[in-house]
Amino acid sequence: MNRSGSDTAFAAAKRVIPGGVNSTVRAFKGVGGTPVFMRSAKGAYLTDVDGNDYLDYVLSWGPMIAGHAHPDVVRALQEAATRGTSYGTPTEYETELARMIVAAVPSIDKVRFCSSGTEATANAIRLARGYTGRDKFIKFEGCYHGCADPFLIAAGSSALTTGVPNSKGVPAATARDTLIVPYNDAAAVRAAFEHNPEQIAAVIVEPCVGNMGFVQPLPGFLAALRTLTREFGALLIFDEVMTGFRVGMGGVQKREGVLPDITTLGKVIGGGLPVGAFGGTAEILDHLTPDGDVFQAGTLSGNPMAMSAGIATLRLLSDTTFAHLEGLATRLCSGMAEVFRRRSVPHWVGAAGSMFGFFFTDGPVTDLAGAKTADTALYARFFHAMLDRGVYFAPSQFEAGFLSLAHDRAEIDRTIELADDALAATL
Ligand code: PLP
Repeated sequence: MNRSGSDTAFAAAKRVIPGGVNSTVRAFKGVGGTPVFMRSAKGAYLTDVDGNDYLDYVLSWGPMIAGHAHPDVVRALQEAATRGTSYGTPTEYETELARMIVAAVPSIDKVRFCSSGTEATANAIRLARGYTGRDKFIKFEGCYHGCADPFLIAAGSSALTTGVPNSKGVPAATARDTLIVPYNDAAAVRAAFEHNPEQIAAVIVEPCVGNMGFVQPLPGFLAALRTLTREFGALLIFDEVMTGFRVGMGGVQKREGVLPDITTLGKVIGGGLPVGAFGGTAEILDHLTPDGDVFQAGTLSGNPMAMSAGIATLRLLSDTTFAHLEGLATRLCSGMAEVFRRRSVPHWVGAAGSMFGFFFTDGPVTDLAGAKTADTALYARFFHAMLDRGVYFAPSQFEAGFLSLAHDRAEIDRTIELADDALAATL
């Protein structure tokens, strides 16, 4: 496959953009080689600058659940743009999207919009600290909550892939207030609470992880977090930036029946435009300014374009569409597992709603230590063999995969056949 256009574009980008990318996750650090420069996307496919098509299982890292350039989303954006792209005043778009979120996510009475998932989690932590009057919080090893200082300790996603889970530039005093424990380890959470009495404002968790690869909570883990946070007077924050409207209409909290105090959202609720949100009980959310004393603001927060794309996207989703998407994800995972088995490749696969993942490991992965046992060299070879066959998986073993309403069974089956072919060429 000729990708010389990407080589040229990458060389030009590197001259004016550090590393040639504006988000570390887009670099091919986990798999080597040149990032593919895309020119357009439609439905389930990306097209690169050389005109090559790729079946897309990354979907802009989650947001594009409707598929690329869905006509309803495009129409909503065109209509919004003709009315002006930002006013810096409240709009009815914000209330409409807020209502849709409140109706779908069980623990949310009120929600505040911002412009990225990072802003959502940073605001959620500030709110938890302001509400409880405590400074420390618990974060799980390998979970990623965006690139604000307090989260860049034992961080997942591209921080993990590039070998910088603890970023330089984060003040030691900031890092000291982030307490790190292994995922799925409720006993370690209890110990952290006991060692820091009345100092911990919150536990923040990806209730189903997409940022050390796809790792699901063990039965009882989320319920234990709910019990422990209540026992020790801390708030429970579910970071559903990735899982919200991805694993189902009500997020992981609805699937698992465990309700947090604060939920962060992003990605899907902006339909591919920059967005973030954090919501929870009215009692907690009303501590925000202007009526409360925990500050939040943003020039483009609740931007009408982002709200319009989000509203159009959420209108396409329902329990029925998620049942369909989960059927596709399960088909893909069982087909891939069968291929790996046939080719004697140790593996672990999993799916929830429209999210999925696979590790080249000997057994189940339940935490970062397990994820790190994966054969990343094999993943890199497999990734490139699939890329050359026109399938775009995440360029790192430590990321999840995503499906959209534009993917169909024939494409899933073709992916499984191509995986077999790719492995034959790779092993
Ligand atoms: N939280 C989670 C769980 C995420 O997966 C991400 C991004 O991947 C973020 C927060 C940060 O969101 P953003 O990249 O929009 O700042």
